[in-house]
Amino acid sequence: MPDINRLPPGVVNQIAAGEVIERPASVVKELVENSVDAGARRIDVSLARGGSDLIRVVDDGCGIPSDQLPLALASHATSKLREADDLFRVETMGFRGEALASIASISRLVLRSRGGTEESGTEIESAGGRTTDAKPCGCPRGTTLEVRDLFFNTPVRRKFLRSTQTEAGHATEAFVRLALAHPHVHFTLRHNDRQIHELPPTDDFADRIGRIFGPDLVAALIPVESTDERVSLSGYVANPSNNRGNTRMQYLFLNGRFIRDRSLGHALAEAYRGLLPVGRYAVSFLMLRMPAQLVDVNVHPTKLEVRFQDGGRLYSQLLGTLRNKFLTTDLTARLVPTGDDEVASAHDPGRAQQLRQQLVGWAKGQVETWSDQPAASRSLPSSPPPGQLELNPLPRASMTMSPPGVSGDHGPRTYEPTRSFAMSSGDVTASSADVPAAGLQIHNRYLVAESADGVVVIDQHALHERILYEQLRVKVLAGDLESQGLLVPEPVDLSPAEAAAVVGQRELLAHLGIQIEPFGGDTVLVLSHPAMLANMNSVDVLRELADRLCCEGKPPQRRDLLDELLHMMSCKAAVKAGDRLTTAEINALLEQRHLVQDAHHCPHGRPTALVFTRQELDRQFKRT
Ligand code: ADP
Ligand code: MG
Repeated sequence: MPDINRLPPGVVNQIAAGEVIERPASVVKELVENSVDAGARRIDVSLARGGSDLIRVVDDGCGIPSDQLPLALASHATSKLREADDLFRVETMGFRGEALASIASISRLVLRSRGGTEESGTEIESAGGRTTDAKPCGCPRGTTLEVRDLFFNTPVRRKFLRSTQTEAGHATEAFVRLALAHPHVHFTLRHNDRQIHELPPTDDFADRIGRIFGPDLVAALIPVESTDERVSLSGYVANPSNNRGNTRMQYLFLNGRFIRDRSLGHALAEAYRGLLPVGRYAVSFLMLRMPAQLVDVNVHPTKLEVRFQDGGRLYSQLLGTLRNKFLTTDLTARLVPTGDDEVASAHDPGRAQQLRQQLVGWAKGQVETWSDQPAASRSLPSSPPPGQLELNPLPRASMTMSPPGVSGDHGPRTYEPTRSFAMSSGDVTASSADVPAAGLQIHNRYLVAESADGVVVIDQHALHERILYEQLRVKVLAGDLESQGLLVPEPVDLSPAEAAAVVGQRELLAHLGIQIEPFGGDTVLVLSHPAMLANMNSVDVLRELADRLCCEGKPPQRRDLLDELLHMMSCKAAVKAGDRLTTAEINALLEQRHLVQDAHHCPHGRPTALVFTRQELDRQFKRT
């Protein structure tokens, strides 16, 4: 056994940094928290290259007395705790005294500060934890911290940094969480000399929310408030019509600290139960205040999770407050049509999993070889399946025609040439050959056809979705999906993380016919739109995609993403239950019915086709 050695302090700090400092966003969080603790009224944050080159935080807080400057960078040195018992009544954001030491050990750092009564400022520098002597400098009252070249001396960790956009997105999110938690503080954020946020101080939480997320969201906010003797809850939840595909817009603050809490997240979901489509999540900005003794904030390295003394009571308080609020608020006016099961089930979380499984075989063999080839040299990975057809989406507005003899329709007959289901003739597969020419549509949602051994009833939406999916896939792989340039590019305001995600996946989106460009702040410009989604609003499409692209934790594989997006687009473009079809359309769809019979369940997990055998019919009619 080798001897046991004490680790040198530099190594200890680097190890500590590993827990607290994951990426530039973590530095932003720690520095801004220090400024808040210092009582700053104004905090200016600037980043260069997503924060990996530079993070600067300037505040007008109480400052650090010149003789204590070196201590601020020492590990386990804090002005916020004196004794162990203080840990159970933490009122400040920081208390462990290790953030600055950790950051200093993995960056080049400059700290300048001037206390309230001091004539001039003092400056101290550190590179990889090696600190210079403090020297006087000119600086305004308050503290400035500059952190350059994060992870410069830990190359392995530097390699883990993602693109500038992604890191900027995370850093912006860290900033936004703090800015939401402290509306009375003036906050600004710049990235590469571009202004991202300018947030003047305000007493009005909704005003701060609006400046960050825009007026549309503010218009959907519903105020909530409840106080029991120890806990106060206040803030806003959004009308259910303003929902998201993930929980990232669920902001919860405890005593000024952004937290995640599984149980309270559950209470929120429970309150919205029945008001949101499956797989959609509420938007909330909730502030909890309670005496510091009622909560342990020292259970998580970055304090993202906390332990409540009486979690059950808190759960009931949140759920009860929201339920009462919803009961007394007219939500219906702006409610999404949750009755539309196509829309609802398109967001079914189980769906992605099933899709992936269905597609794995195909994707393994084909997508990987495709992803990095230039478009011009790309060729179809395999010939399209037999019977592959040129099929156009059906514009829903024109679905007023009735196939003669199927059902009585007295509406206008508008012929729409683009919705032909013209098949490339001659290569009808064995499984579709036994479909008789005339199929039948019933209740504007099912197709009925005779098959060799009975009768088959098919869900028209599921079948069309499946056909479009196959087509889209081939087109996307071939790089020739039609897209339409927008006459006027559409700006779309997204959350910081969403903006980073869509910009990060720009190239993938371009393959899907959606060209975007960053437009400053969290706004992106949509320049083009997939032709097959012509009847959809491009802003909605992008929002939906942004939702899918953003998930916490591991970034989705390119292959899964592409697959998800293709499915989303085919679902949107397919005929819906309720759309009336012409005979030609019915038959064109039925000729491709082998596609649903291969996979008996639609991506939403419902059956796509039911077969009634002749024997069964004979038995029912007592012919046997
Ligand atoms: P902690 O915040 O847990 O105390 P830090 O390592 O983040 O530990 O900071 C160490 C100490 O440096 C703080 O306790 C505080 O006294 C001082 N400090 C850091 N940043 C600032 C600031 N912006 N203004 C005033 N004092 C600061
Ligand atoms: Mg701190």
